[in-house]
Amino acid sequence: MLKKVAIIGAGAAGMSCAATLAKHPEFAVTLIDIDSHTGGQATSIPLDQSTHGASSLNDGVQGGSQIFRHTFQFFRRYGYEPQPVKLQVAFGKGRNFWTNVFPNALVDQHSAEIKKLLRVLTCVKYLMPILGIMPVKTILRLFRFSADFSNQMVLQLLALFLGTGNQTPNVSSVLLERLFNDPQMKLWEYDPDTLLPNLPLMYTFPNLNNFYRDLAAGLRVKGVDIRLNCNVTIVERGKKGVVLQLQDHEEGQSTGQPSTETFDDLVICCPADESKNLLGQNATWREKYVLGGVKFFNDLTITHSDSNYFRQIFESVYDPKLCAKPTTQERKNQIAFAEQEPRSQKDGWLGFRPMYYMHSYVSDSTKIEMGFNCSNYQHQFREELGENKPPLPQDQHVLQTIFLNDQEKDLWTWDAIDPSKIISYVIDPFLAI
Ligand SMILES: Cc1cc2nc3c(=O)[nH]c(=O)nc-3n(C[C@H](O)[C@H](O)[C@H](O)COP(=O)(O)OP(=O)(O)OC[C@H]3O[C@@H](n4cnc5c(N)ncnc54)[C@H](O)[C@@H]3O)c2cc1C
Repeated sequence: MLKKVAIIGAGAAGMSCAATLAKHPEFAVTLIDIDSHTGGQATSIPLDQSTHGASSLNDGVQGGSQIFRHTFQFFRRYGYEPQPVKLQVAFGKGRNFWTNVFPNALVDQHSAEIKKLLRVLTCVKYLMPILGIMPVKTILRLFRFSADFSNQMVLQLLALFLGTGNQTPNVSSVLLERLFNDPQMKLWEYDPDTLLPNLPLMYTFPNLNNFYRDLAAGLRVKGVDIRLNCNVTIVERGKKGVVLQLQDHEEGQSTGQPSTETFDDLVICCPADESKNLLGQNATWREKYVLGGVKFFNDLTITHSDSNYFRQIFESVYDPKLCAKPTTQERKNQIAFAEQEPRSQKDGWLGFRPMYYMHSYVSDSTKIEMGFNCSNYQHQFREELGENKPPLPQDQHVLQTIFLNDQEKDLWTWDAIDPSKIISYVIDPFLAI
């Protein structure tokens, strides 16, 4: 007999769950989402090609590393290919600046602590039950790492790895250890000299609106019933199955009367706080404990082309004053790479073209602001330019600034972004542990 399964949420998790269940003929799958599109937070927006040099941008999820094998398989099944890019980061400004592109003073200054952190991660691995559950901030303090090294380097890098924003100090140290040591999780090798290796390989994603549209069409062919603009308002679980209350929903408004429908089983693929709300009083203590352990704060992502704003808070342009001494041939090569006139390559850029930016606020160095130069990062911009071409002028670049945690709005410098250069803005829930 067919088993009726409802999946709530048609983001990456719900779509992947539906694709897996659709392979088994014993399931009749219904995928439900309140939004009018599939893909959830993974969205794309159109761009003015004549100004920005590409017709679209993935404005939330942009890329991943080679560990995203499962995601890449899905892309390829629908004719899309993730594109390699050699990652360049630029963290901090002035004396707090560091990068993985050329040797710099901050990395040299913390060279002993970088080596020590590798030893500490080995301790965390072997004393996992005790040290692993401690927050990263406790481990950094316990092993007497300097505040500068902790805030300017470790926490910023981990925030980039995990997307945990200002809550990164509270992440369990087991995650820090796994991210560097676990072959299934690690994004890059730990570099005992520089922490982050020189130009490691990342991948940028295809147009995610198109990919999720095609994946949805493929699932419909396989018999998945996809219901968009449909809000699940109540979940009731009983002996005869799961009863969902469904409410049609359009442009933020409920439309028509709610209806109920019974399913044999349910998979909730929504953020933890929303899942807990959906289960309400019916949640078991275990569900309440696990789902309640994750909190989300709202962050504001502004997509813009205000390169002056970027220049004021980040080191977005190569400056020889930022370089440390070229004491080895490897360092000389890195400096020679960084100082050349930028040229597009299939897998990134020749010259200093940072993609990921981060800085901590002067008034509170434990809090960060994130930035992306999407024109340097996402492959469609380089494809449109062609290979070995100079970049577009800075003020045509598509940039993103992410202000974290709206409870700390007093730190945000959003009013310094020229409003005439704003392309779009989105308020997203950002994960906290
Ligand atoms: C700014 C930002 C940048 C990011 N960048 C990257 C990146 O570069 N690379 C990367 O790998 N990851 C990135 N992430 C993380 C990535 O977005 C998430 O891990 C992923 O999209 C989560 O997918 P999901 O399916 O779990 O949830 P979601 O995408 O949130 O999907 C949940 C779905 O559930 C629906 N829903 C919720 N409640 C209901 C309800 N009651 N009824 C019906 N439907 C409901 C929602 O509408 C939504 O479509 C980023 C996240 C953010 C916020």
